[in-house]
Amino acid sequence: MSKSTSKDQSSKVYLVGAGPGDLGLVTLRAKECIERADVIVYDHLANPEMLSWAREEAEIIYAGKKAGQHAFSQEEINKLLIEKARAGKEIVRLKGGDPFVFGRGAEEAKAFVDAGIAFEIVPGITSAIAGPAYAGIPVTHRAENSHVTFFTGHEDPSKTKSAIDYAALSKLGGTQVMLMGVERIEAVAREMMANGVRGDLPVALVRWATTGRQETLTGTLENIAKRVAETEFEAPAVAVFGDVVALRKDLNWYERRPLSGKRIVVTRTRKQAGALTAQLRALGADVLELPTIRIEPPTDLREFAELVQDAHQYDWIVFTSPNGVDAFFEIFYKLYDDAREIGGAKIAAIGPATAQRVRDFRLHVDLQPEEFVAEGVVRQFQKQGGVENLRILLARAEKARDVLPKELSKLGAIVDEAFAYRTVPETRDITGARRRFLEEGADLITFTSSSTVEKFLDLGLPWPKGMQVASMGPITSKTASDRGLKIDIEARRHDIDGLVEAIRKFFETKNVE
Ligand code: SAH
Repeated sequence: MSKSTSKDQSSKVYLVGAGPGDLGLVTLRAKECIERADVIVYDHLANPEMLSWAREEAEIIYAGKKAGQHAFSQEEINKLLIEKARAGKEIVRLKGGDPFVFGRGAEEAKAFVDAGIAFEIVPGITSAIAGPAYAGIPVTHRAENSHVTFFTGHEDPSKTKSAIDYAALSKLGGTQVMLMGVERIEAVAREMMANGVRGDLPVALVRWATTGRQETLTGTLENIAKRVAETEFEAPAVAVFGDVVALRKDLNWYERRPLSGKRIVVTRTRKQAGALTAQLRALGADVLELPTIRIEPPTDLREFAELVQDAHQYDWIVFTSPNGVDAFFEIFYKLYDDAREIGGAKIAAIGPATAQRVRDFRLHVDLQPEEFVAEGVVRQFQKQGGVENLRILLARAEKARDVLPKELSKLGAIVDEAFAYRTVPETRDITGARRRFLEEGADLITFTSSSTVEKFLDLGLPWPKGMQVASMGPITSKTASDRGLKIDIEARRHDIDGLVEAIRKFFETKNVE
C-alpha cells in the first residue's frame, strides 16, 4: 500500500445503491453522496435523472453494461475508480438497486481494499423486492409464503456446473425471485418443473419496475416462456415464482393509476420542468423531460458583475424572469454578505414566478404588473407616477425583446441593461431522454409557452407517429398551429395545474371509449 494514496483524506469511494428506478426510492444518503461527488460512475440500471443532483463540475462517466454490449469491463471499471480515487477525488459508484444484490459490488469493494482506498457502502432498495411490490406482489405473505429466495437466472441452467441447485430450489418452495434471466426463462421453468414444481404455479415478470414504463406479464410456470416469446417481453425484468403472484389481482396499485402506460414529453428547461413532471408522474405517466434550452452565464460576465455591484445606485431594479433573479443574486452574494447592500433600490418583477423568486431571497417586490408582459411593466410604472429621471437597472436575458428599455427610456428613465444570462439550445442528453424519445416515441407532448413550441421544433427532431399535443393556453396553441401542429388538448386554466387536469380528463374519456 503506498503512503500517498492511503493518506489522502478526501479520496473515498462510495458504492451507492441507486434503487430500482423510481427517483423517490433513492435513499437520503445516496442523494447526499451524489450532491457532493467529484466523479460519478453510473450503470445502465441507475436512473440517470439523479445525475441532475450532481454539482455542475462533477465528472460523470457511464460505465453501463447493456446485455451483450459492454461499455467497460469490470477490470476497467475497478481501474478507473482506483485511478480517480488516487487523484484525491470523492467518487460515487452508482449501481442499480442495492450494490450487494447481484451487483458485483463486493468485487469492486474488494478491489478498493486491495488498493488501500477507503470506501463506504450505501445500500439501496433492491428491484428484487421493490419490483414485485410495484406490481402488487408482496414477496412474503403470512398465509401464502413465509420465505423468499433470490437467485440469478444469468447462468445457463443446463450447464453442468451451474451454481444454482434447481433441485434444492424447487424443493424449497416459498417465493422465488429471479434477477437477470428473462432470456433464460424457458430453461429455468423447464428445470423447475423437471424437479417437481407444479406447472400451474403463478409466475410474474415485471420489467422496468418502478419506472413510468413498468410492464407486468403474468402466467404459470408452464406457459410463461411462451408468453414471453409472444409478447417479446424483454430485460430488464424481475421474475417472481409463487402463489403470492395471485395477490396482484387485488393489490395492483401502480399500473392502475390514471396516466399509467402514457409516455408524455415535457419541454421546459430542466430547472422549470419539476412541477409539471412531478404531477404527471404522480398520475402514473412515463415522463420524458426534453429540455430544449439551457441557461448559460452571459457572454460578458464581468460587465454583469459590475452592474450588480452598483445596484444600490439605482432607483429600481427590474427582473423579467426567475433566471434573471437567480443570476443576479448569485453574483450579488458573491460580492456582498449583507442583503442591505442593495441600498434603496426598489424591485419590480414582471410576473408571479419572478416575484416569488425575489421573495425567496427575502426581498420585497415593490411593483408587479397586472399583465405579465413587458408592456404591463411600463403601464404599471406610469400608473405609479412615471419614471422620469429615475435610474433603472434591467436584469434580463441576452437577446430579449426591446420593449422595456425602449419604452422606459422614452418616458425619461435612465436605463441600464444588465445581461444576466443567455439561453442556448440544449444539445446534450445527460438523462438519455432524447435517445428514448427517438427510439420509443411518445403519446403526448406538452407545451407550456410559445417559446417551448419554437425551441422544440427548432431542434428538428422527427415527430413520432401518433404523438398528440397539449398546450397551456390559446397563445401557445396559436404558435403551435402556425407551425403546423394540431392541438389535441388545451388547458382551460392556463397554469400547470390546469394543464395536468386537462391531460387527465383527455385520457379518462379516451379510456372509456
Ligand atoms: N443490484 C440490483 C440488481 C442488479 S442485476 C438490484 O438490487 O436491483 C440486474 C438485474 O436486476 C436485471 O437483470 C433485472 O433482473 C433486475 N432489475 C434491476 N432493476 C430493475 C427494474 N427497474 N425492473 C426490473 N428488473 C430490474
